[in-house]
Amino acid sequence: MYMKSVTLDGITKMFGNAKGVEDINVHINSGEFFTFLGPSGCGKTTTLRMIAGFYFPTEGEIYFDQEDVTALKANKRNIGMVFQNYALFPHMTVFENIAFGLQVRKLSKEVIKEKVQKAQSFVHLEGYESRKITELSGGQQQRVALARALVIEPDILLLDEPLSNLDAKLREETRVEIKRLQVELGITTIYVTHDQHEAMAMSDRIMVMSQGEIQQIGTPQEIYNKPLNHFVASFIGESNILEGEIKEITDEHIVVDTGDNTQFKGLKENCSPNLELEEGKNVLLSIRPEIIEEGEGPNSIQGQVQLSEFSGVSINYIVKVGNKEINVMIVNSGSDVLKRGDSIKLNIPESGIYFMDDRG
Ligand code: ATP
Repeated sequence: MYMKSVTLDGITKMFGNAKGVEDINVHINSGEFFTFLGPSGCGKTTTLRMIAGFYFPTEGEIYFDQEDVTALKANKRNIGMVFQNYALFPHMTVFENIAFGLQVRKLSKEVIKEKVQKAQSFVHLEGYESRKITELSGGQQQRVALARALVIEPDILLLDEPLSNLDAKLREETRVEIKRLQVELGITTIYVTHDQHEAMAMSDRIMVMSQGEIQQIGTPQEIYNKPLNHFVASFIGESNILEGEIKEITDEHIVVDTGDNTQFKGLKENCSPNLELEEGKNVLLSIRPEIIEEGEGPNSIQGQVQLSEFSGVSINYIVKVGNKEINVMIVNSGSDVLKRGDSIKLNIPESGIYFMDDRG
């Protein structure tokens, strides 16, 4: 129960001539919290719907563990699903909503009662069984939807933007609750979101998608620290992306010229695997704002503050360096906030530069 793996093997979905997704290859481990992340229209929901059995792929196969389920209908897949709008029956009670999937399966009244009570306790809705859905808050409705998905003891839980209808505070609380429940049950969970914070906070691994294709699959740390391309570096967190030309390659270092008489020296190990290292080749440098320090070092640059913003935890600057603007985040240590026009000396540690291919 609760723990099948999912394999998508060369999945393509066409809607007439329009591409939904193309050549998706991924293995989701049993018990894993796996997220499809990307902007609107990138193919997250289409992929999830194929796993659920609501859409069938134009090409490729889907496996749950070793079983080929590609042609299996949705109601034969033992999937629990929570939709963005919850899709609850508004005039039925909490009990009737949660029990629905069990009644379809024609279980006895006693078994249904016991299972519904257990599911209610998973989501902390004990005592709410007689309430109508219309008498619940958004957060409570969300929990009914989750209980309804879990009550059938699914092999896989699919969640399609389940937090998007909640306000910011409730969204954070529910995020923690869903994650806790997932860890407790050990259920294989596939989560769809366009919110990178949500994805980073909850997931064991993330699949970043754009225009129907996979951009990168990895742990939140891998995706954040070692983005494969421009799209991933700019979609996940904030990044300074500079263009440059490789000037020198040594055993441990790469030196890149970014114009304006500026050269940056970084570590050779911080290269995306698809980057061909060659002197004279164009590359992209991804530099996270929080990695940049005030002061001197191997990659010192001098700039002028354009904008400063005090956030409490940090001071965020936009700094003009030559003809480029760089975002810098300095941890607040009580020192003065610089103003527009002030000059600032910055250093980018060698380990803080990530080199990427300039395509894509
Ligand atoms: P969102 O976050 O907005 O839901 P998404 O990443 O889930 O976006 P999908 O809904 O999977 O994206 O859509 C992927 C692509 O497939 C889009 O270009 C979309 O227009 C197209 N598409 C999705 N469903 C259909 C459909 N039923 N008919 C035609 N095209 C579709």
